[in-house]
Parts: sequence; structure tokens; C-alpha cells
Amino acid sequence: MLRMSKQVKHLLSQFKPEHYILSLHPDKKTMTFKGAVTITGQKVGRPSNRLTFHQKDLKVTSAVVKRTGKQPKEFKVDRLNTHAAYDEVRLHTTDTLYPGQYEIVLEFKGKITDLMNGLYPSRFQLDGKDEIILGTQFESHHAREVFPCIDEPAAKATFDLSLVSPKDEVVIANTPIKSQKADGKLLFTTFETTPVMSSYLLAFVIGKMKHKEAKTKHGVTVRAYATPDKIAQVDFALDVAIKTLDFYDEYFAISYPLEKCDMVALPDFASGAMENWGCVTYREHCMLVDEKNTSLPTKQYVAMVVAHELAHQWFGNLVTMRWWTDLWLNEGFASWIEYLAVDHLFPEWNMWTQFIVDEQQTAMKLDALENTHPIEAPINHPDEIRTIFDNISYHKGASVIHMLHEYLGPTAFRDGLRYYLEKHQYGNTDTVDLWAALEEISHKPVKDFMHNWTTLSGFPLLRVDVTNKHVELHQE
Ligand SMILES: [Zn+2]
Repeated sequence: MLRMSKQVKHLLSQFKPEHYILSLHPDKKTMTFKGAVTITGQKVGRPSNRLTFHQKDLKVTSAVVKRTGKQPKEFKVDRLNTHAAYDEVRLHTTDTLYPGQYEIVLEFKGKITDLMNGLYPSRFQLDGKDEIILGTQFESHHAREVFPCIDEPAAKATFDLSLVSPKDEVVIANTPIKSQKADGKLLFTTFETTPVMSSYLLAFVIGKMKHKEAKTKHGVTVRAYATPDKIAQVDFALDVAIKTLDFYDEYFAISYPLEKCDMVALPDFASGAMENWGCVTYREHCMLVDEKNTSLPTKQYVAMVVAHELAHQWFGNLVTMRWWTDLWLNEGFASWIEYLAVDHLFPEWNMWTQFIVDEQQTAMKLDALENTHPIEAPINHPDEIRTIFDNISYHKGASVIHMLHEYLGPTAFRDGLRYYLEKHQYGNTDTVDLWAALEEISHKPVKDFMHNWTTLSGFPLLRVDVTNKHVELHQE
């Protein structure tokens, strides 16, 4: 397998962000955007004359570094270097920066490109006219293409987002709108502060869209957005989302952590869907169902994708992997629990029978090949996710979670999971933290049991020979 040699340094080791005030003004005519960000947080580690943030293809036009707290001071930034190979912008100060509380204000410009990462356009037609929706895709490391930040999953912070957009368009982000005012042809929107979260889960959408809405038992407003011509096709996904959120509220024993949950069907989308916290984005065919012309497998697929993304609102968003190496657990878990949720909603679909074919046997087929790999594979630079993270990670990941669920029993597994989410909420974990929580609740050796399944490739083969009244078992 090709391993990229791109180096990675964890920028969290020199600056811990706590809060971002981010304002962005995208312009569809010029396909550019300008923005400003105020980052507050702690400089940690050794004293130095440098602070480094992630950025990619941005032009940082101004930088101010201030120490806050007891002895406030503004530092002169005498050099502002961007390092493309590292996706970094380095702010060099004349005076030494000692560990402490700082505020950094950066102004920047960027381009809106068609790569379906960062901030990108989705194109559609409305009344015979070409229209563009602007949407974001920040997982795994594309927030840095839209604003300078510490773009690592462990660098959790709160975000205050403000957007400038055309007056006649809808704006959606992770949290509800706090204030909005129109001025001329423009709309100025500020969103409520987000919970503490990773940068890859931040999202917003601007465009001519319509929505339908409903409420969960716990009073969470769920809105399903689509382009105006397709708004009639959101009903099924909206209904599944409401019921799934009710199911997870009970199963995880933690209420859905945000006030609202939007789901947005985008005409152009790189993957199937993205679990942005409170602002889940979907490829249209993963969310929209035309009731009259849709087959049962298509409806099942939509239900599974919705259940998958909503599971991440807890497992992934509320509790997040410390680094991308543990992405397999995030995805393996969501790929397993989507069956549990959809089976609960539609028992007549026999989802667990499909699990054997679609997950387990698919995983075994791939895992029997010579070029297979363990599901726990170290990821150095997030660029490597694309080469390392494949169907083995998803299907075998889901299959070993399923096996663990059967081994511990549904109650111990669920209670261990509740304990894990409660203990680590708004934080980051490694895979072993989940095993430790399940072990504590179930009193079974989960860590030892799972170790070989996640760190070795392939799977044991069990042979059963029956001769006369003897049954012989061999494991290879
Ligand atoms: Zn997922």
C-alpha cells in the first residue's frame, strides 16, 4: 500500500484553542470568500516566538497576537509565513510568547473550488435558471481550507459563526440562528454558540432551499431541507430521523445534545452523508424518497444512512476519537448501530439477516485476500485516511462490534456504552477507552478479547469434523 510521506505535527501541542469567533462572507459571483477569525486559547509547551495554525490555500492578510489575562500585551507579528507542505500559517513575533492565555485575530481570503471539500458549490436548476448552493465538507481536515484553526479532532472548542449571504437565501449551520438582519441585498446572520466540538464537525449551507419540520418527543426540532423542486421527497427521511432520535435518546440515555437537528440534501456531494453536529448533509439519493417511484431497498438504504449519521451525533460528535487512527471505531460503530435502530423502526425488514450478507460476509471476503489489513491501522497524516480507510474498516469494524454485542449481551453492551458516553462526553477517546468502559460494566475481558480482532488481519477458521459420535473442532 502506498504510504504518503507528508509529515504531520500535532499543532495542539503548542496551542489549545478554546473559542472561535468566525465570520465569513462568500461571494458566488467571484467564487471567493473573505473572513476573519478571533481564536482564544492557551499557548502551551515551551516559550517561543511563533504560533502555528492550520490553513490550506488561504491568504492570511493580517494577524494580531494578544496576551490576555493579568498582564495583557499586544505582540508585534513581524513575519507571517505559510507552509504549503504542512498546511500551516506561522506567526512569528518579535517578543517571546510564554505559555498563557492568548487571543489571535486573523483576516484571510480564499477560493471556492469544485473539489467538494472545504466550502464548495452544489449546482441545480430552479425555474430554468442555474442556481448554486454553497455548502461545507470539513471531515477529515478541510476546515483549514475555510479558516485558520487547529484542525485536529482533539482540538475541541466552541464556535460563534457569522455569515454574510444573499438576502433571498436560506442559511443553516450547526446551531440555531441567534440574530439576523438584512441590509440592502445582503443578510447578516449570527448563530448560537456551538457546544465544545471538533473543527471537522462545523458546517454551514447557504442557498435557495425549502424545508419541512417536525419535533421529537424531547422537543428537538428536526428540519429536512432540499432544493424547492424536491421538497416533496423529504417526508420519509424526516419521519425516520424523528423516530431514530427518539430511539437513541432512550438507548444512549443521553438526550440529543443540541436544540435542533437539520438534515440537508445537497445536489453535489462527495460521499453518502456527513454527520456535522446538528447540520447533517446528504447526497440527494441518500435522503430523498419519491414515495411513488421508490423500491424497498432504496427506502431501506435511506433509513440506514439517516440512522448512521444520527448515531454519530452521540458516538463521534459528543465523544470523538483523539486521532484519525481510531476512525475505524467511529465508523464501525455507526455502521453497526444503524442496523439496531432500523430494525427497531422496521422489524418487518429483518435487517440483521441483511447484516450477515452486507457487512459480515463482505468483510470476510475482503479479509481473506492477501492484501487485507488490520482494522486498527496507524494514520499519520489525515491525507492517508483515503488510502487506509476502506470497506474492511467499515464492514469488519461493524462485524467485530456485532460480535462484541453478542458476547457481552445486549444489556451489558448498552449499559457499558451509556457509561462510556456519559464519562467522555464533550471529550476525546482512544479505542481502548471504550473497551475499558465495557469491561467495567460487563466484568468480561473486553480488551483482551478485542485486541487480536482489531490489530491482526484475517480471521480464524473453525473446522468441524463429525466422525461417528465424535465432533472435532479445529481452529486455524
Ligand atoms: Zn459514519
